Amino acid sequence: MEYRRWAWVEVDLAAISANVRALKGLTAPGTKFMAVVKADAYGHGAVPVARAAVAAGADWLGVATLEEAVELRQDSVEAPILVMVEPPPSAAPLLIEHGVTPALCTRPFAEALAEAAASSGVSAPFHLKVDTGMNRLGVRAEEAVDFAVWLRDTSDLRMEGVFTHFATAEIPGDWEMGRQLERFVKTVDDLKTERISPGLLHAANSAATILDPATHFDMVRCGISLYGLHPGSATRDQISLMPAMSVKARVSYVKRVQMGEGVSYGFTWRASAPTTVVTLPLGYADGVHRLLSDRMRVLIRGMACTQVGRVCMDQLMVEVPEGLGVSIGDEVILVGEQDEEAISMDEVADGAETINYEMACAFSRRMRREYA
Ligand SMILES: *Cc1c(COP(=O)(O)O)cnc(C)c1O
Repeated sequence: MEYRRWAWVEVDLAAISANVRALKGLTAPGTKFMAVVKADAYGHGAVPVARAAVAAGADWLGVATLEEAVELRQDSVEAPILVMVEPPPSAAPLLIEHGVTPALCTRPFAEALAEAAASSGVSAPFHLKVDTGMNRLGVRAEEAVDFAVWLRDTSDLRMEGVFTHFATAEIPGDWEMGRQLERFVKTVDDLKTERISPGLLHAANSAATILDPATHFDMVRCGISLYGLHPGSATRDQISLMPAMSVKARVSYVKRVQMGEGVSYGFTWRASAPTTVVTLPLGYADGVHRLLSDRMRVLIRGMACTQVGRVCMDQLMVEVPEGLGVSIGDEVILVGEQDEEAISMDEVADGAETINYEMACAFSRRMRREYA
């Protein structure tokens, strides 16, 4: 494939497995592990990542959309799947057909799911999504018990779990996160008082999994850490993770540029002395954000070289030091390691004024994923 296109993404599935084991090592025996593989496994490729995670001990898979769940099922991934965002009511029949568990937090969706379950003669499971303070999605904590009682009294739906999501888990000891946790515990207690069995309780994302065992309950839901990236600076000292994604290219053209000549659209960069500039065949359509123009480094022959001029849609240019002896076809690292040098996803994300989460998702499907 390198021969068809000199720009690609490599994913180290052994790193995914190692990260699953390291993260599971932080939880008590018996705690279930959900591998969050939404957004095509944060750009790493949902099916291969899901398979590797399950083989390494993941019990559940978490996705954001029904399509993501169906893609896994169509590739015969059989692990339990939770669609963590309640889908529209019209999605209910397909959820049942594919044996996928949805998050549930509204009456119209509950009614549609109950109806689809009844017409298929099955009892459909769901996880109740409780909003304990993030104000994104979920039945508000103080209304959760009434909602659950209504569900129990009006449908045959099966409450298989109750969950919430934290807004500030990457800040150790955060007071508002403590409040979210208290509201979650109280909601669960109130459900039990109503003799409603909540099933599987889960709340922790990567940051909470790493920083606060009190949030683990019956299952943790890890996304970013599964890929070897940290959700924030606080977790770095707590666990050693292996980054799974590398972004690579090969030099597609080499040229001499004379003093004063500009490079790329708008000539935002000009050579201050005669120099060598190489071209790489990837650009912002591949996820190398245009904000990275004149702000990123790449590795060539183990040397950090600076990107120069505007990043174009399909190509970008790099100035190489004199005497490096670069030729067409040389391997270039945009994210990853070469010899003793490394460029992290975090460094690239900083340059693009975003977080590693968005950066990893950004590398587009135009670049083939290669698995090692
Ligand atoms: C994305 C997501 C996660 C995973 O979060 P990370 O910070 O990537 O570990 C967990 N739970 C929910 C509900 C999510 O949407």
